[in-house]
Amino acid sequence: MANALWFPQANVRVEFHSVWTPESATSQFNVKGPIDLSQAQMTALYEYGNNWAANLLVYFGGRTIAGIRGYSTNAITDRNKTYVDTSTNSKQDYAKMARTLAHEIGHFICPTGGGHDGKATDLMFATNKSGGTQIRRARVRQVIR
Ligand SMILES: [Zn+2]
Repeated sequence: MANALWFPQANVRVEFHSVWTPESATSQFNVKGPIDLSQAQMTALYEYGNNWAANLLVYFGGRTIAGIRGYSTNAITDRNKTYVDTSTNSKQDYAKMARTLAHEIGHFICPTGGGHDGKATDLMFATNKSGGTQIRRARVRQVIR
């Protein structure tokens, strides 16, 4: 879905690279508390699983994400890492999860203008409940390809 949203609207192609290389992965994710992608957590994620050839590393887990500016969020992106809290998706709504991932990719590829959009129809609207998928021209111009 991320590719279906980003490619026709912004000429950004999203491709799955691979899972972790076996030599990079460990079986334990050693962090405490909610996910906030602090430097300690970024390091722990690298130790948990990494692939140097990937542009964006996406981690799925059941740990709560720390609130950001008052929002209750189910995914977070910082630098080259995205964490998706799958525990908030108990109904197995994969379309919603994919739209959330597309939204997080927007944060990754628009680092200077990667904040949220004010329109509920926009993919980068702060909450996903509206189901917005539009990527407006102002954001398309900010994409790093
Ligand atoms: Zn966001």
